[in-house]
Amino acid sequence: MVKPDGVQRGLVGEIISRFEKKGFLLKGLKLFQCPEELAKEHYRDLQSKSFFPKLIQYVTSGPVVCMAWEGVGVVASARKLIGATNPLEAQPGTIRGDLAIQTGRNVIHGSDSPENGQREIALWFKEDEIY
Ligand code: ATP
Ligand code: MG
Repeated sequence: MVKPDGVQRGLVGEIISRFEKKGFLLKGLKLFQCPEELAKEHYRDLQSKSFFPKLIQYVTSGPVVCMAWEGVGVVASARKLIGATNPLEAQPGTIRGDLAIQTGRNVIHGSDSPENGQREIALWFKEDEIY
């Protein structure tokens, strides 16, 4: 998911391009204003963290671009393409390493396991939006 800062900064094309060039297959794509309840459900594992309210405010602050990508090892590979949570610790060449500075404005979300990937696709997309 390209987060609101990534959309506002015009980074959607660049980000999609990196996944396409890597060889993954685009299965779903939409611009979407995330309701607060969905953001809370999506990040439910982080609800006890002090930054949780700010995180919910951030991901609901404007439209996001939801993407579903398919391919061998896509979840682990996407996390490598995305880079570390803190963009200042993310390697150059990664999306966060190249395009962001702040943890609280780190441009993109990626699922952290295949199981969570499935859970998140079901949360963010209707069945007929996945090809
Ligand atoms: P994401 O789940 O968004 O792909 P991630 O898996 O790298 O990111 P998580 O630990 O799942 O990192 O945190 C989710 C998001 O919460 C981060 O991407 C970041 O936007 C925000 N976040 C995490 N830690 C902090 C922090 N210490 N301060 C502010 N925001 C944070
Ligand atoms: Mg995460």
